[in-house]
Amino acid sequence: MTAVLEAAGLTKHFPVRRRVREVFRKGRAVHAVDDVDLKLHRGRVTAMVGESGSGKSTVARLLAQLYPRTAGTLVLHGKPATVRGGRRFRAYTGRVQMIFQDPFASLNPAHTVRYHLTRALRLHGRVPAEAAELLEQVQLTPPERFLDKFPHELSGGQRQRVAIARAVAARPEVLLADEPVSMLDVSIRLGVLNLLRKLRDRLNLAILYITHDIASARYFADEMLVMYAGRVIEGGDSETVTQRASHPYTRLLISSAPGLAHEPASPVEGEPPSLIAPPSGCRFHPRCPHAMAVCRTDLPPRFDIGDTPGHWAACWLYGAAP
Ligand code: ADP
Ligand code: MG
Repeated sequence: MTAVLEAAGLTKHFPVRRRVREVFRKGRAVHAVDDVDLKLHRGRVTAMVGESGSGKSTVARLLAQLYPRTAGTLVLHGKPATVRGGRRFRAYTGRVQMIFQDPFASLNPAHTVRYHLTRALRLHGRVPAEAAELLEQVQLTPPERFLDKFPHELSGGQRQRVAIARAVAARPEVLLADEPVSMLDVSIRLGVLNLLRKLRDRLNLAILYITHDIASARYFADEMLVMYAGRVIEGGDSETVTQRASHPYTRLLISSAPGLAHEPASPVEGEPPSLIAPPSGCRFHPRCPHAMAVCRTDLPPRFDIGDTPGHWAACWLYGAAP
């Protein structure tokens, strides 16, 4: 299966202000994302799971090319995909669309649903009349009831559906969904995830589903990547990663997830590390109950786990030390 969008070695370091720099003399940057590899396939949902601050949104923004990366390559359909503004960027956004967490912030309060959709349709060479059809695709029916509404006249779930319709207007192949249901009432989250799943099938979309909620990732995603402190530390199909979590951090995430834990929830101990001076070796070692000497000094590579193809963990428990 060939990937539609592929990232290798994706890295983003944000420069820090001088005052902060004096405190952390060693480092000069926030190591938000380091050396992330991922492949997105059409018709599949890949979840990226991790706690707040682990670099998930930065990965999404790098994939959308909303800002430049420190290092790494992006490949779309086997060809280098780096764009720097202008027409090539528009062509890229036509194929790779993003949905944000807060549908209130992403819709302009001064404009109607019709305006948002027809503008997106025109931008991507389609006719305004298709707006009604877009609303049907996101199950806002009958469309006439919604076309002339303003964002404040809609519920949070309806607003997120409009944002999804606007993304779909570009006829994208890839949808980057950054915590698309975290701000919605619990009761309507499932409906929006099920809609995304329908769109995955109907439009053959590759979806990156970013979330801090590993239970929803297991429900919704085909594959799963777990992030910790700017690095991907485990990956595989989502059933395997949740049923046979191998990295100690993934196990901690699961043990504190209601509905997934096999044992009563034990709180995740300790704090995520500073990303200005991240821990040496494995970034999880200061919190890890199994930390060995090698974990403090050497960055663990990906080790294949057991006999499940595609399941791996970046953890020295699964490989020979160098
Ligand atoms: P997540 O989405 O997983 O919560 P983010 O990608 O938003 O994580 O952030 C990862 C890290 O990068 C955090 O430490 C955050 O403070 C930092 N960061 C994000 N954006 C910027 C920025 N524009 N400038 C400086 N630091 C940033
Ligand atoms: Mg985020």
